[in-house]
Amino acid sequence: MNYQETGIAIADTDLETIHFEENLNNHAAENSPEYLKISLAAAMTLGMVPGLFYRNACLHCVNVLLTYDDGCRANCAYCGLQKSREGNYNDKSFIRVDWPAFKTEDIVKTTLAKKDVVQRICISMITHENAKEDTFTLLQNFTKNLHCPTSILLTPTILKHSDIDKFKEYGADMVTVALDCATPELFDEYRGSGVKGPHRWDKYNDTLDYSVSVFGKNKVGCHLVVGLGETEKEMVFRMQDVRNKGARSHLFSFYQEKGSKLDSHPQCPAGQFRRVQVARHIIDYDMGNAEDMKFDAQGKIVDFGIPFKDVAMIVETGTAFRTTGCPGKSEISACNRPFGDSSPRNIRSFPFELNASDISRVRKELLEY
Ligand code: SF4
Ligand code: SF4
Repeated sequence: MNYQETGIAIADTDLETIHFEENLNNHAAENSPEYLKISLAAAMTLGMVPGLFYRNACLHCVNVLLTYDDGCRANCAYCGLQKSREGNYNDKSFIRVDWPAFKTEDIVKTTLAKKDVVQRICISMITHENAKEDTFTLLQNFTKNLHCPTSILLTPTILKHSDIDKFKEYGADMVTVALDCATPELFDEYRGSGVKGPHRWDKYNDTLDYSVSVFGKNKVGCHLVVGLGETEKEMVFRMQDVRNKGARSHLFSFYQEKGSKLDSHPQCPAGQFRRVQVARHIIDYDMGNAEDMKFDAQGKIVDFGIPFKDVAMIVETGTAFRTTGCPGKSEISACNRPFGDSSPRNIRSFPFELNASDISRVRKELLEY
């Protein structure tokens, strides 16, 4: 087995789940809601694709993505699914791995067969004229047939307030808005007018606000990508704003997607990501506030605004450095996206509990300026 850059080793023989093979190889005209793409990690967890995870990073959330032959209409600079990236939509990678397409009914069947492992399912919308209606259909299907709660990763650009109401009515447990960028300027540059894309900062923030009014405090998430060009201070104040709205931030360390517009943009230094992870933990669990944190001239965090012994405790337990996302049976994210934002040799978001050597590494990285 070779885990390469993704932390995933795919067996090249013995397709135990041979009846799914046709879907893997022949998905040219297969659209949602009858078909869905599924993350490679989720497909492996469900036994639809044979393989192993590095350090046995067990997955508890099935992430599915709407699929259409004509793809996503948006053009986000860092995303593998951006419209202007060369190639057929169905062959494009997303978060650097393939997302094979399967029949929705097979995904439901295999998810039910893994009840003991799967604690959540998440529907990722894309920017497409059919995405809203198809998400309603899928959500009703999952609410009726599955044992676990459903999250929706919203595409605010194609949604009205009444659609958020319907997501609640049809049984969604949580919704998330992928703001991704920490500042309105970066958002416009990478998702809006800078890439001739349809997304607007105000619309995304309005959807975040409205979603909290419908789903309630701590039932709404906000994806944020660290390292798109923002300072630590800008990210800290964005996370505080998200928290003030009643939501929580789900962090990703920017990691280049080959063939995307940002494929030569470097990943941020480890120290930056570690400090932002600690700040997020403090802010999202109401242990402190951005206003009390201190920053140097480059906007790097030099004081977390809480007693040193509390920061030391956060580092020692390691929870702040684990993947953040919609929870499972405990507060820990069910959605652990194994090696979604780094190579397994240099883990940014840990998809499992940290061991002593991981803790000593993050402690060292935290102090790298
Ligand atoms: S809307 Fe989502 S899927 Fe489409 S290009 Fe932007 S980030 Fe990618
Ligand atoms: S954190 Fe995971 S489960 Fe929650 S919306 Fe994001 S991708 Fe979906």
